[in-house]
Amino acid sequence: MTLKDELAEVARSLGIIDIGFADVGLWSTDPIASARIRPLNRPDSIMQGCRTAVVMGIPVPYATLLTAPSIAYNQMYRNVNAMLDMAAQRIAMELMARGWQAMPIPRDGYHGIDGLRDTPTAFFSHRHAAYLAGMGTFGVNNVIITPRNGPRIRWVTVLTDAVIDGDGPMEEEVCIHCDRCVRACPQNALSPGTYPDIITDKTGCIDRSEMLAKQGIAPCGLCIAACPVGLQKGPTPGPTEAARAEIQSYVRKRFARSRRSGR
Ligand code: SF4
Ligand code: SF4
Repeated sequence: MTLKDELAEVARSLGIIDIGFADVGLWSTDPIASARIRPLNRPDSIMQGCRTAVVMGIPVPYATLLTAPSIAYNQMYRNVNAMLDMAAQRIAMELMARGWQAMPIPRDGYHGIDGLRDTPTAFFSHRHAAYLAGMGTFGVNNVIITPRNGPRIRWVTVLTDAVIDGDGPMEEEVCIHCDRCVRACPQNALSPGTYPDIITDKTGCIDRSEMLAKQGIAPCGLCIAACPVGLQKGPTPGPTEAARAEIQSYVRKRFARSRRSGR
């Protein structure tokens, strides 16, 4: 069994089916990554001697996403992030047990929404790692669109000095340019076009995240909920309109109460 197979098996035991591998050299040669990622934020700067980025993804349940913004989506989002961080730690340990160096990159490399406003990009982009590992391609909403789950998947990365065959970027674009994400954005933060020619207006997106975080229901999620790529055929699995309003009312009531009491 190759190291690649062994890591995929460990990942599967952690509930992670989507795992890919990117050759670190791609950060300097791929036109998108080399244009968008500064040398300081590339794997070989973050971990000297790094040769491979191991990228893992966990899909976000569509039915929960359809309640967003809500406490249900907020909690699920945190759980997925925690699972990804644990999986990255575990894969790093597996690599170290085999004599390799490894560095799990935290899921969110900024410090909350305030940190994001100060520095709107994390010190490492899991999106670009996922793209270079052939998991999907960039969509109009600037996130990775995968054939199986569209944009409804979150990523984490482990850097290692182990040399593992890379999967390489996908050749065919997955985004179908329907622009539903553009129309769904209440901040008009997205524009039609092709990444990296079109970049999300991060200030508008952060403004909305901040407003929702104050109510305990960040993140927003509307642009990824709107994307039709990777949806299964059949009835939409989300809540009824009434149930959605009911789920969302919990936080609104609490927010209104805390505003009234000045807390
Ligand atoms: S997360 Fe919300 S505010 Fe940000 S781009 Fe998507 S729809 Fe717009
Ligand atoms: S909603 Fe349409 S335009 Fe936006 S990312 Fe998905 S496929 Fe692309």
